[in-house]
Amino acid sequence: TGDDLEGKLSRFHALMMFTKVDKSLNLQQKFKVVMRSMAKHGRFLEDEMLVLHYVSDAGSQELGEKMLPELLMDATFRYEVVFHNVKALTEKLFPIVEAMQKHFSAGSGAYYSDAIFFLSVAMHRIMPAELKRIVQLDLDLKFRSNVRDLFQEFNHFPSKAVIGIAREMQPVYRHTFWQYRKENPKSHVGDPPPDGLPGFNSGVMLLNLEAMRRSTLYNQLLEPGRIAQLAEKYHFRGHLGDQDFFTMIGMEHRELFYPLSCGWNRQLCTWWREHGYGDVFQLYYHCDGPVHIYHGNCNTPIPDD
Ligand code: UDP
Ligand code: MN
Repeated sequence: TGDDLEGKLSRFHALMMFTKVDKSLNLQQKFKVVMRSMAKHGRFLEDEMLVLHYVSDAGSQELGEKMLPELLMDATFRYEVVFHNVKALTEKLFPIVEAMQKHFSAGSGAYYSDAIFFLSVAMHRIMPAELKRIVQLDLDLKFRSNVRDLFQEFNHFPSKAVIGIAREMQPVYRHTFWQYRKENPKSHVGDPPPDGLPGFNSGVMLLNLEAMRRSTLYNQLLEPGRIAQLAEKYHFRGHLGDQDFFTMIGMEHRELFYPLSCGWNRQLCTWWREHGYGDVFQLYYHCDGPVHIYHGNCNTPIPDD
């Protein structure tokens, strides 16, 4: 029977931020591209199911519910859709991330509504304990490979790693760490690959929630005092939310992060090439190997293939 199968299904969880989508044709277009490409390339086994989580407001949820059946029409796999209310999640999140917001948010205050940009950072405390792994994805992506292959990357995590994430592909953190680099000319902080530490991009993230819950180190790094201490050491002031936090703690504790290959988050934005970093830009932007996921960040068009 159907009930019989339910219990035996193995579930793969993916989450996307999905707010103000009803107000933006631009976001709706991105939503179509990411979901259609995921459906087109997605392959799962008979007893597997992809669970799609969306963090939404009421208007976006209504639109998502209406659009998804058609966008996933060609999917050959089982899937289930879960909407999470952005207000309810923000309420749980705010007390955990309030203290880090001033270091990694635009503006000076810790605005309540900005807390959601730090969801990934505290996802292990927000989601139920049965949820052991989740992949967080941006909307401005296009799949060229099977999303199931992305989940297989969890199996390559070294024992201390809690998050899988690809490097940032622009010299943005070379800029952010300018003062630290000047004071520490031998450090690799903000340097390009393969030997440098260019920071992370949060468009595709593998969150091993179980490992995040278990890691004493990771949970210590969420404490306001530790964050303030590191922000001072690195003279860090950012506005990119979770990816700034992960970048900063990654400079100090590389072992917490499993580096995804650049092909799993092939960012396309070239803004920093035209803003003072043209000379070194290619060192960061360069990505060899197959592209599994294009990321059209800063509204960059994604090639047709
Ligand atoms: N997002 C959203 N509503 C918005 C803006 C952003 O739900 O009004 C989500 C969406 O999932 C998006 C993610 O936040 O992919 C990050 O924003 P974006 O991809 O535009 O940032 P970028 O990758 O260009 O830095
Ligand atoms: Mn993006």
